[in-house]
Amino acid sequence: MRSRYKLLEKRLFRAIDLGSAFDGNSKYLFLYFDYEREYSGHKTDITDTDVEEIVKLLARYQFVSTWFIVGQVMEKYPDSVRNIQSYGNEIGSHTYSHLILREATLTQIKKDFSAFDSPKFKDLNIKGFHSPRDQWDVRALSCYANYGYKYDLLKTGLMDSPITFRFPPKNRLDSMVRFSSVIDDWDLFHTELEPEDVTRYFSKALDVFQAGTIAGIGFHPWLLVSDRNIWEGFVGFIKLLSTRKDITIKTCGQYAEILTGNL
Ligand SMILES: [Zn+2]
Repeated sequence: MRSRYKLLEKRLFRAIDLGSAFDGNSKYLFLYFDYEREYSGHKTDITDTDVEEIVKLLARYQFVSTWFIVGQVMEKYPDSVRNIQSYGNEIGSHTYSHLILREATLTQIKKDFSAFDSPKFKDLNIKGFHSPRDQWDVRALSCYANYGYKYDLLKTGLMDSPITFRFPPKNRLDSMVRFSSVIDDWDLFHTELEPEDVTRYFSKALDVFQAGTIAGIGFHPWLLVSDRNIWEGFVGFIKLLSTRKDITIKTCGQYAEILTGNL
């Protein structure tokens, strides 16, 4: 993963100097959720109430987060999506149909971006994109430009020094940024960990990444509620996060706005 990303990075992306808005004393974190429900390809029985519990937990500590939502979920569960946003969270795209970009044809990719560009979603002010299974593909670049995306994110594996990238200007993407996700909950699926191990799994990432950089930690709501221990470990992590004075939490969109100044 790392070496492949390094190759891509050389060809397409340049590291951004975070500048004075991001001082070297704080660690800049974003929490993100891939909200896909039954469109994830996994059997889930997550409900609106489960989702609200996550959102309320974050709100208790005044944390805001970014929710990359499948377009089909937005159509089927609009109240849940509005509820997430009403707590100050940001909504982003996780494709319309949970499309795996690298397995799709260019026509399918274009169709999916077009379906997501529905007037029904316009007032959600969507600026960000996260590709399903982190299977990002360079063919998405023209769609980013056509539909006005301002940032995306990728699990880069750059744990200790996550890099924030800029996109190639020649694709009309000179004000678009890419954030690094350092860890997500995927590795916890079907493990038999105790809640404290789950908390430690996430908190380790906080210790590893350097001050003055921006890093993401990701979650799948259905996965969090699929196992009592994972849920309790997640709650423990959010509590622990609230005690960490060295960490600043914003949404991806807020970071993107600081970086590009024109969102
Ligand atoms: Zn997904």
